[in-house]
Amino acid sequence: MNAAGVTAFVGLGSNLGGPIAQVREAMRELDELPHTHRISQSRLYHSSPLGPAGQPPYVNAVAMLHTSLAPDALLAGLHDIEQRHGRQRSERWGPRTLDLDLLLFGEQQIATPRLRVPHPELHRRDFVLVPLFELAPDLYLPGLGPLADYVEDAAQLALRPVESADSD
Ligand code: AMP
Repeated sequence: MNAAGVTAFVGLGSNLGGPIAQVREAMRELDELPHTHRISQSRLYHSSPLGPAGQPPYVNAVAMLHTSLAPDALLAGLHDIEQRHGRQRSERWGPRTLDLDLLLFGEQQIATPRLRVPHPELHRRDFVLVPLFELAPDLYLPGLGPLADYVEDAAQLALRPVESADSD
């Protein structure tokens, strides 16, 4: 525990089981984690899947949290939420009902066997960079540099915001 707390960012993704509803529900559950509240959230975006071909498209978003949990306790909380959504860990990069990644934890750089922060793929994934930039355009990525340096205008075009009329 860190009594003062830090700002942490979590990436959400789903391409099974009603992805829009999965991500919206997970946003609520993030706000209910102990010693944690959600400060804000990006829009939801449709994106094309990485990994095995033939998967349905993804819905992605990023949440900004304030937490006084330790990083490993926050990660454990994310895993609990994934489990509640019936996440199967069978196939690497395969379809999933819910994937939660700890993207940033304050200004910390963490490299343990279970946790790497900043998330090692953060700066290479448009579906993370675009919603993160929407939430915090002035963000500095520890060890990497300004977030703005990684966000390309073309990336914003490749992602389509979820409209309120869209259904799963
Ligand atoms: P994935 O299948 O992509 O959700 O990867 C889950 C595994 O990555 C878990 O065993 C985590 O311990 C590990 N991991 C390492 N760094 C992170 C991170 N920043 N956020 C989420 N999982 C992480």
